[in-house]
Amino acid sequence: VNRPGKKVWLKEDVVRTFPVRERFSHKGSHGRGLIIGGAPNMPGAVMMAARAALRAGAGLVSIAASHHLISTIAPYVPEATYTDLNLKTLDIDSFHAAAVGMGLGRSEQSASLFEDILRLANIPIIIDADGLYHLKKMKNMLKEHTAPVVLTPHFKEAADLLDTTVSALKQNPFSLTRAFSTEYGVYFLLKGPYTIITTTDGDQYVVTTGNESLAKGGSGDVLSGILLGLLLQSHHITEALCNGRFIHGKTAEILTRHTHSRYDLLASDVIEGLPMTLRTIC
Ligand code: AMP
Ligand code: MG
Repeated sequence: VNRPGKKVWLKEDVVRTFPVRERFSHKGSHGRGLIIGGAPNMPGAVMMAARAALRAGAGLVSIAASHHLISTIAPYVPEATYTDLNLKTLDIDSFHAAAVGMGLGRSEQSASLFEDILRLANIPIIIDADGLYHLKKMKNMLKEHTAPVVLTPHFKEAADLLDTTVSALKQNPFSLTRAFSTEYGVYFLLKGPYTIITTTDGDQYVVTTGNESLAKGGSGDVLSGILLGLLLQSHHITEALCNGRFIHGKTAEILTRHTHSRYDLLASDVIEGLPMTLRTIC
């Protein structure tokens, strides 16, 4: 029998598989990404995700947010374009990949918006944060969904999604996430100091970069942005996820060795530290 494998993802794997940036490329070559979120009380999440996606190499990033928010966010991410969060005018499939849920909110309205997105989207989609919260009530939609779906929960979000407890999940993280991934046909990135990435076939990769400086609000939003940026540039979803998680953690390591401590590092410092990591890898 062909048993699913397990592997630790190392720097040499990143170097071997990192997307090549061609001398004669143009912005369209590096993918057009969509970030959907931006509830009025959480402007920062989509802002950081968008900046992170661009720093990770995305060609074009668009933010779909509540129109009240756009003028607040835009000065911080002038490189992005903006659309109102309205599915009547937003053509999701005109993008190459999307991330949804960061700062989306948990209202009834955002639940139905999330459901519509999951029903309509035919592109690879990353679901994080409030998107995972809404997904709990509509897990079975994943079985009908044919385009790739990537879930990025931390342990609490994952335990809720899997209908288990954090302590049960901590005892059996590999087998529980593998069972979920293969049953629902999703990529699963279980976030923690060691992150377990499971493919739809049940293959598993572990990424161990990073440190406790990342245990702070906003870290997950930055990771989602980096993952989106790499999904846009890569033909291999698994490589994009492993590489994205690797450089997120590696950047925190480099910054806390040279310029920051493990106390003061901010999630947005990781975005601004990506250049140091990427220069050593590419
Ligand atoms: P979130 O909980 O959604 O903000 O995501 C937290 C991010 O920070 C994930 O990418 C985790 O892998 C990372 N992270 C949190 N705590 C640690 C830690 N103690 N060591 C390494 N990475 C961490
Ligand atoms: Mg989070």
